[in-house]
Amino acid sequence: MLFAHDTECGLTAAAALVNTAGPDREGLPDVAALDGFFTTHGWSGRHEHTEVELRQVRALRPRLRRIWDTDTDGVVEIVNTLLRESHALPQLIRHDDEPYHLHAVPRDAPLATRMAVEAAMAVADLVRMNELSRLRHCAHPDCDDVLVDLSKNRSRRFCDGSCGNRAAVSAYRARRAASPS
Ligand SMILES: [Zn+2]
Ligand SMILES: [Zn+2]
Repeated sequence: MLFAHDTECGLTAAAALVNTAGPDREGLPDVAALDGFFTTHGWSGRHEHTEVELRQVRALRPRLRRIWDTDTDGVVEIVNTLLRESHALPQLIRHDDEPYHLHAVPRDAPLATRMAVEAAMAVADLVRMNELSRLRHCAHPDCDDVLVDLSKNRSRRFCDGSCGNRAAVSAYRARRAASPS
């Protein structure tokens, strides 16, 4: 493990949330889709299943995406703003089966607030460790998903989707086309 468990979870969840907002697709079209996202990414605590909550979560996505698109000072500005707006106050807590980890807003704070703060706390760790280069864009030219490279040798280039396979197939075809038959 490169970073603390809650940092890695926070980064992965933030990337997944950003990637639900594609240029030509909506990964969170309704409350049921947000329910699915909530469960898949192991969220717990307050969850209202309402349109208001869905709107707040959707509105967070472009703000988090900017973390992938800006330089270190820009990232720091976003992180500090998210923490300040949410009145973040880090506390070590233990719940369910998890070991002690940091929460900076209460578990009954709105879901979008907790998502924002968890992302901000995780990215703050990256800034402190000078590891922002782990936040990348998928290397496939047709994909604008973001990713978090948590590999030891910093080798990850593609998102969680099928881009790694697509790129391998294109490279194979290109080699076949280039080789004399
Ligand atoms: Zn927790
Ligand atoms: Zn991709």
